[in-house]
Formats: sequence, C-alpha cells, structure tokens
Amino acid sequence: MSAYLELCRQAKRHHNLRHLLTFAAIDRATVMPPKGGEARAEAMAELEGMLHRESRDPAMADLLRAAEAEPLDAAERANLREIQRGHRLALAVPDSLVESRVRATARCEAGWQLQRPANDWQGFLENFREVVRLARSEARHLADASGLAPYDAMLDLYEPGVRSAELDLLFGDLRGWLPGLVQKVRDRQSSERVLAPAGPFTAEAQRALNRAVMERLGFDFEAGRLDTAVHPFCGGVQDDIRVTTRYREADFLHSLYATIHETGHARYEQGLPREWPGQPIALPRSMGIHESQSLAFELQLGLRKSFVEFLAPLIASHFGPQDAFEPENLHRHLTRVAPDKIRVDADELCYPAHVMLRYTIERALIEGEIEPEDIPALWDEQMRDLLGVDTRGDYRDGCLQDTHWAEGVFGYFPCYTLGAIYAAQWFACIQREAPELDSRIVSGDFSAVVGWLDRAIWSQGSRWETRELVTRASGEPINPAHFRAHLEARYLG
Ligand SMILES: [Zn+2]
Repeated sequence: MSAYLELCRQAKRHHNLRHLLTFAAIDRATVMPPKGGEARAEAMAELEGMLHRESRDPAMADLLRAAEAEPLDAAERANLREIQRGHRLALAVPDSLVESRVRATARCEAGWQLQRPANDWQGFLENFREVVRLARSEARHLADASGLAPYDAMLDLYEPGVRSAELDLLFGDLRGWLPGLVQKVRDRQSSERVLAPAGPFTAEAQRALNRAVMERLGFDFEAGRLDTAVHPFCGGVQDDIRVTTRYREADFLHSLYATIHETGHARYEQGLPREWPGQPIALPRSMGIHESQSLAFELQLGLRKSFVEFLAPLIASHFGPQDAFEPENLHRHLTRVAPDKIRVDADELCYPAHVMLRYTIERALIEGEIEPEDIPALWDEQMRDLLGVDTRGDYRDGCLQDTHWAEGVFGYFPCYTLGAIYAAQWFACIQREAPELDSRIVSGDFSAVVGWLDRAIWSQGSRWETRELVTRASGEPINPAHFRAHLEARYLG
C-alpha cells in the first residue's frame, strides 16, 4: 500500500473515533444526568489521549515523508497538507501537558458554574491561574514548533493562517467607525415606537415554529435533529447533525434566531463534500468560516426585511395574530441597537466590541503582558470606551460571563467577528448575482443564498487554505468594507 493510502486509512480511523467522542459530548450537553459527569469526563479524556498519542507516532513522520514523494493529484496533496498539519500540531504539545490541561480546565469550568452566579471573581482566580499557566505553556510549545508568536500560534488552531497583525488592521478599522455608527443609530432609533411581542409562548409552540423554519431553510431532518440544551450549539457528523436551542417563554425570538444561527452551521456540515469520506479535506475549513455560515443565516439573511416579511405569517400561524407580528414592527424590534453587558445577547452592531475587548485581553494574557488579576480593570475600561457600559464590580455579567477562558480556549473569540465580516462579503456576492434576491426571499425561496454558499463554501471543504478559499469565493481577500456598507445600509438606509 502507498504511504498516502496508509495515512488516509489512519485518518479515517481517527475520524470514526472522533465521531464517538462528538456524540459523547452531545449527550453530555443535552440529556446526561449530573452524576454522569465525572465518569464521562474520564472516558472522553482516555480516548482523547489515545488519539493524541497516535497522532504523534514517529512512524507517521516516515509515512508523511514517503507520501510527499508519491505522485498525488491536487486534491490528494490538499488532503496530505491537512494530515501534516494535524501531525505537526500534535507533535508540538507533550502528552503530559494535554493531560494537565484537561484536569485544570475541568476543575476551573466546574468551579465557574458556581462562581459566576455568586459573582466570585477571587474564587475563580484560584483555579484560573493554573489554566493560564498551562495555556501559556501550550502556546510556547506551539510557537516553538511553528515559529509564530505565542498568541498567533493559539489563533492558528482555530483560524489557520490568520495572524494578530491582520486582526489588528481589521479591528483597528472597525474601532475607527463602529462606535460612531452605534451612536448615530441609537439617536435615530430613540424616537421609534416598537411593540414587543407579548408572551407567554409555550416551548412546544416555539419548537414547532423552529422546526418549520429549519425545514424552509433546507435542514435535512433525515440527517439531523433539533434538541434542547442550556447553551445552543450545533454538533455531530455530516449525516447526523444535532442542532440545539433553549426556550424562554417570554421571548420566542431568542430561541428562533439561535436556531437559525445553528441551522447555518448545520447546513455547512450537511453540505460538505462527499468524495472523501472521513478525510480532513472533507472537513469544514476553519472556525471563522464556520461562523460565517451561521451568521449568513442568522444576520445577513435572518434580519433582512424580506426575510422578516416571509417569517411574519409563519409566526402568526404558530402563536395567533398580534400587532407586534406586523413585519415592519417585527423588523424594527429585531434590529434594535442597545449596548449591554452580555456578548451572546448583543445586537449585530455591538457584538464586535465584545469580541475586540476579549481579543485585546486574551492576547496580552497569553503573551505574558498582563496577569489574570489584571483582567477586571481592563474589562471595565474597554466596556466603557467601546460601548459606554459600566461593568465595575459586576464580574458575573462582566469577565465571568463566558466559559471559553475557563476551558483554556484562547484565540477563538476573533473568529466570531471574522465570521461576521466574511458573511457580509458573501452577501455582497450573492446580491450581485441575484438582483431580484429580496422578492424571492419574501416568498420563501432561498435558493440564491443556499446555492451560492453551497457552491463557494460548503462543497469546498478544506480543499483550499482560508485565504485562497475566500478569494476564490468572493474575488478578493477578507475586506471589512462590505461589513461596514452592510451595517450602514441596514441601520441608516
Ligand atoms: Zn456560531
């Protein structure tokens, strides 16, 4: 057997084992009883450890070298590039560090569950210092292996190829115009009269509405499910995708838009290429590209006036008629801009500020320029400067609000805003190709959107590195001008 085929066989084996890990995690997040937690964590760590050890196997380096010299076509070369990347990343981080990290982040995350509601920053800090120490060590190992700066090496785990120098330019651009835009829009909206939908809305009725909208968006229920979880997510494998949402009886729009967001992630997974089952080339490109699919659905499509016009009668048919469901009013309600403390509840205009502040802090933390105890003061300062929001003394809805850092995930936050910028870029293309887009959307015909995303992104998998994928899809590298034009058109147009 050729070295390349042997590598493919191993990749397929790891893919199959990861399949089971994924469903162990989904079960934990949806239906596992609390007492199952410890044993599940142990079982998952065992399998995770085994996969890590196998990915570092010295025999793999020989196979990779041999495969390099074999006659491969372009797709096989791209697949080999992705296999090499996995091996390089696994080789960079020692087993002992992976194990310590699993333990430290599990402890920190479990503590956070109680410390966040108690506003207990000092208690959190005791566990968090160790998480930061290990994350810095991981970043240093990855940096040594790649030649990148430590934070860039972490960023590269989630958004391969993107560096903080590029983020500084993108976010510097946003910082220049976004706060002024937020102010202008707020002034303009202050005189608007908006009716909020009046609940309660039962979870059953919300679930039926969510399913109906998912069906219209082309989600394949023969290859996926909609379930309930505390934090909405999308996970699974191509032919078994689990979308989750949560229900608040007072506000069905929260659940509906979370569902539309996760459906964007799900359709990306369901639309990945089928020619290379279990191979890395057939996997999603990056977290930023993944987020660009969910935000293409939730914000670009979901908040268009034409989509709200399509949605309004569907909403009324599930909950009965209300004046608030009149499309014009519903759209004003959905596009209300109000700076606040919580990232996941932030509107489209304020969201990037939440990301930029986390980026500034986590980068300084990983680079060793600040210590964990410096976080709250920096948080307060940035929230004041970027959004005019006072978070002093409120750790619960301040720097303790997310789980990312407790879980040792540093370098992920920028992907949310990269996704928003990419999504605006995709829609600029879709709009150009389909000038009659909105009249089609009103009637529930999303083929122009879905067709473009499928052709340009989903079907490409990991065939191209991110920069090339973006340029092939849209004719240019990432360009925040589309994001700005989109926001100005929607909120000031
Ligand atoms: Zn998402």
